[in-house]
This record gives sequence, structure tokens and C-alpha cells, in this order.
Amino acid sequence: MAPGRVAGQPRRVLVHDCEAVVAMDEAGIELSGGSILIEDGRIAWVGVGEPPAAEAVDRVDGRGAVALPGLVNAHHHLYQVLTRVRAMDQGLFGWLTELYPVWAGIDVEWERAAARVGLAELALSGCTTTTDHHYVFPPGVPGLLEAEVEAAAEIGLRFHPCRGSMDLGRSKGGLPPDSIVQGTDDVLAETEAAIRRFHDPEPGSMLRIAVAPCSPFSATERLMTESAELARRLGVRLHTHIAETKDEEAFCLERFGRRPLELLDHLGYLGPDVWLAHCVHLSERDIARVAETSTGVAWCPTSNLRLGSGIAPGPALLAAGAPVGLGVDGSASNDAGDLLAEARQAMLVSRVEAIEGGIGALEALRVATRGGAACLGRDDIGSLEVGKRADIALFDVDGLAFAGAEADPVAALVFCAPERVRDLFVDGRRVVEAGRLVTAYEEAIAGEGHRVARRILERAEG
Ligand SMILES: [Zn+2]
Repeated sequence: MAPGRVAGQPRRVLVHDCEAVVAMDEAGIELSGGSILIEDGRIAWVGVGEPPAAEAVDRVDGRGAVALPGLVNAHHHLYQVLTRVRAMDQGLFGWLTELYPVWAGIDVEWERAAARVGLAELALSGCTTTTDHHYVFPPGVPGLLEAEVEAAAEIGLRFHPCRGSMDLGRSKGGLPPDSIVQGTDDVLAETEAAIRRFHDPEPGSMLRIAVAPCSPFSATERLMTESAELARRLGVRLHTHIAETKDEEAFCLERFGRRPLELLDHLGYLGPDVWLAHCVHLSERDIARVAETSTGVAWCPTSNLRLGSGIAPGPALLAAGAPVGLGVDGSASNDAGDLLAEARQAMLVSRVEAIEGGIGALEALRVATRGGAACLGRDDIGSLEVGKRADIALFDVDGLAFAGAEADPVAALVFCAPERVRDLFVDGRRVVEAGRLVTAYEEAIAGEGHRVARRILERAEG
């Protein structure tokens, strides 16, 4: 079966007469009354009126809806979904210290339930592609990465999981307890095995693996440099957390004699094959260095506000020409997986000191789509153009929340309260229809999430 062909799903679909089609292409084309033809998982035509050979297509009425490229989430920790609303008034290090022992109890049932909840939430917010950064691998618990890969295939999202890692436990001066860090050689061997098993480098790929030691305070310099070597040898991307808090900067200065971004630069961990979560505390020189190395940044405004970490210089990074995407980062520090809400948060927080220099609604949507695709190294998604994969989000703009927003229905998606996506196509396959998941049962996913989360909570209390 060709990519994008799913049993029981039509080969050709015409999404027609949309309120607007926002292409997010180089030219910034926006088509009022536009239509999109999907053929074998790709975009075959975008325009106004009827496409060639319009007979023999399934038709989806786009009236009252804005079509965007599917949103791309550039940073996440799906397993954390089941530990939301914990350590509510802690900064990053206190929050981590309280949660590490809870996360040490992770098992496959937890991972599976959390991934299904998190991926379903993302899909319903218009997200078609997501990464995940899983870095908790307690000894004797196999199958965690496999569980989330299965969940993504079930929900139907394009998936870029990172094989994360920690090898710097408390006894060696790191932050995490020794019980949840691994040996450096084990990490490297298991990471290589995961890439060889799962990574699909082909255009249109639904599954790619990245390499991602967790942070300077939980990964050794050796793990960082050898992870970069491994990723480059196998042609996969690199990810990590950096410059998230002032505490981290103090840690890096004390342990390494360098600020966080300088440390990464020193370790060979910047470049067009790397994207970094947070980048809150960057100097002007750091910003220039990120941009000149074409290193991507996953901007996570809600998590940074929740943990009191600070405000990332998103607009300055964009102005410098760095690839910038958005991450919901969580969901124990967000505590939601709503990527459209994240676009709104990014726009609002960029204006916190002055309206000048902040970003607008369209730019926020561009970061949430094209920007995220660039972070993940994808040139086949992120815009609605002929030949790209058919990852499309249709948002209703004719409901209560948008009454009065007639002046600009596209900007309204960011300015008004975020609403569920109406229809979502991933690789031409329908994942959401009329605001409901069609690939899985939302109530069953929610029920399983609540049940497993109660088990986690009771174990901690008992
Ligand atoms: Zn994170």
C-alpha cells in the first residue's frame, strides 16, 4: 500500500470552499474560498474553484473553517501527562527533585496510557506532527519507547520520538537520583538499536528517531559528545534542553566554567541538525551563534511561565534568522497539550514589555507550523503546497468564540480562545472529524489515563 493509503479511507479528498486556506508558503499566500485536493497522502492541488478531474473525489465541506498546515510540536514529554498538577509552586530544580522519584516508577502501562492521552490532546488541538523527549529509562523496564511508537501509530500522528537519556546521577554531582540514570555505554547502545529499529529517513516518513541526552545537569560531557557523534554517524537529529533557568546557568558555570550555550558549542552540539528546547537565558552573542549555526529552537512559553523560568527571546531569535518552533513541553509543566493555545501564549508573552518587537498572530501560526517542521528537519510538511504531505488542520471560525471576529478569521484563531480542531488530516488520513477523534475512542483514552494516574498517585501515597 502506498504511503497515506489506509484501508477504508478514500484515495482522493477535496476540502473545498474554506473560509481561508493559509498556505504558509514562502510567498505567504492566503486564499479566500480556497480548496485543497489530497491525493494518495499528498497535496495535489491548491486553488479556488474546482480542481482538474474533480469527479471521483470524496468531498469535505470547508465552509466556515480556516485551513492551516497541521501544527508541529517541537518539544514534549508524553509520560509526564499522568503527573499533571504536581509540585505546583516549584521552580525547575525543585519541581524535578519532587517528580524524579515518582517518574522512577514508570512502566509500559503508564507510558502507553500517557502517550495516548497526550497524542489525542495534541491531535484535537490541530497538531499533526509531534516529537517526544523520553529520558526516564529505569533498569528492568523494557518497552517504553515501543509503547509510545505504537500509540502514535494508533492515533495517527507523524512522530519524531527522541531516545533521551541521563547518565549523571546525584552521586556524581547531577540532579536526578542514581536509580533513574543509566550507564553511558548502555545509553549509546540502546539509542543506536532504537534508531536501527524504528528510524525511517524517507520523504513522507511517519516515524523518525532523534538522539537526546536530557540536560547539562543530568548528562555527562562524554554522553553529550558521543551522542552527537552517534547521531551524525547515523544521520539522525540531535535534541536537548538548554538555558532553561538561572539555576542551570549557575550549575554550568560552576561545573564546566561555561554558560549553557557556550558549553553546547564547546561540545560540538550546535548545527543545522540540532534543535534545542527552551533557550530562555541567551546573551546577544548566544542568539547570534544559534542563528549562524542554523540551530533550531523549541520555544515553550507556557512551561517557562509555569516554572518561573523566564521568557525566551523568541522574537530576537526569529529576527536573527534561527529556525524557531513551539513546544507544549509537558505535560507536568504546562499542564496542557494544546498547541494552538501555545501559539497564543507565544504571541502574548512576546508583547509583555512592549508591543514593539512582539510577534503577530500570523507569525505565531508560522512558528507553530513551518517553524516546527524546520526544527524537526522536515521539508515535506509545514505548508500547504503541491507535493507536500497532506497534513491539514481545519478550524471552525463560525462558532460562538469567533462571533465578532469577522475582521480577520485567521488572526482570530490566535487572538480568540483556542477551540478544538474541526477536521484533521495526517498524510491524507483523517484523524479528527467534526471535533472527534476517528482513529481511537476519546472516552476510553481518558478513562485509561485517569485509571493509571490514580494507580500512580496511590502508590506514591501508600
Ligand atoms: Zn522539556
